[in-house]
Amino acid sequence: MGTLCFGMEYLMRQTIISWIHELKLKHGFADPKKIAQKEKLRVWTIEDGCNNWDARLVKKDCSYLILVNRVKPRVRRNYAIAHELIHWLIKRHMPDSLPQGDQLERLCDVGAHELLFGEESL
Ligand SMILES: [Zn+2]
Repeated sequence: MGTLCFGMEYLMRQTIISWIHELKLKHGFADPKKIAQKEKLRVWTIEDGCNNWDARLVKKDCSYLILVNRVKPRVRRNYAIAHELIHWLIKRHMPDSLPQGDQLERLCDVGAHELLFGEESL
């Protein structure tokens, strides 16, 4: 438990950025929803009517899916899908050293940023 030190977070950032580069190369595009679907992570857009969330990663049966709030503007949904995609990658690839709390959220933002705005954007 507890917060990982700065050096560890730096390494995790670099790891996540390299995953994103690999995903972009593999699929040839940077659309988070399409990438999720190609990786067999379902994305469901639902009508919630409630304004306080953009997207969330939920476990259903034995796999995960991303729920997206249709109420939100498209550009915001796109960012949120990218962010949740990183949550999923971390769960899959870093189960033993799962970052938590604010650190986890920062890492997901780093990955989402790299996916949508990184220099390797297609
Ligand atoms: Zn998050």
